[in-house]
Amino acid sequence: MRKPIIAGNWKMHKTLGEAEQFYADVQGEIPDPAKVETVICAPYPFLYRLAGLSEGKAPSVGAQNMHWEDAGAFTGEVSPVQLKDLGVNYAIIGHSERREYSNETDETVNLKLKAALGHGIIPIVCVGETLEEREEGRTEAKVSGQVKAAFVEVSRGEAEQTVIAYEPIWAIGTGKTATSEEAGAVCRTIRNTLGELYGGETAAKIRIQYGGSVKPDNIGELLAQPDIDGALVGGASLDPESFLRLAEVA
Ligand code: PEP
Repeated sequence: MRKPIIAGNWKMHKTLGEAEQFYADVQGEIPDPAKVETVICAPYPFLYRLAGLSEGKAPSVGAQNMHWEDAGAFTGEVSPVQLKDLGVNYAIIGHSERREYSNETDETVNLKLKAALGHGIIPIVCVGETLEEREEGRTEAKVSGQVKAAFVEVSRGEAEQTVIAYEPIWAIGTGKTATSEEAGAVCRTIRNTLGELYGGETAAKIRIQYGGSVKPDNIGELLAQPDIDGALVGGASLDPESFLRLAEVA
């Protein structure tokens, strides 16, 4: 019932030429978009070009961040209106690297989530715990607190358009993956939290990705977990062959 979604997060990698080459390599090879949704979240300077190359075909193009205001005196920022104008239909919101290095808070995540939904951009909202929080048994409380804060004043209908990415911070770019059971359990907690907010029927429609050192050889067992509907992938999304394999397994 929930269509799997594989999203690549390129972070601050690639030149424009390399990004174009990636699209040339994967376009036409991506599995049936009716069966799996694929997105590349590229650096801002590439979005216009990649959205033009994509022309509505897979993989779609997403941003890695956005501001919540439509326009204004916010030097260095990019608005949802500007993204939409370029043909960008997805945006990662609240990635742990932005929470750590760029003052992203639960409040700004909420503002951005509402702004994205208001402009027809599908938000991929990231939540996850640090290693310390996990070791102290605070994973579930941290993650459901982040979900509740992100969805303040978000309607049921809007919530259904949202994708949540559970990304344990200790598993991002480290080569350490949560076991599929650990990841599945936290994704179940997220779905239960959504159920508290919106009821079970809505919670059952919202897609939840796992992210953290996902690779072609571990994605299968992660997706076998009933509450994991896709993956947010950093390192392994940079290589066209590996991205294609992730999409094929999904
Ligand atoms: C990410 O950037 O969100 C991520 C999960 O990175 P990686 O797959 O490299 O761990």
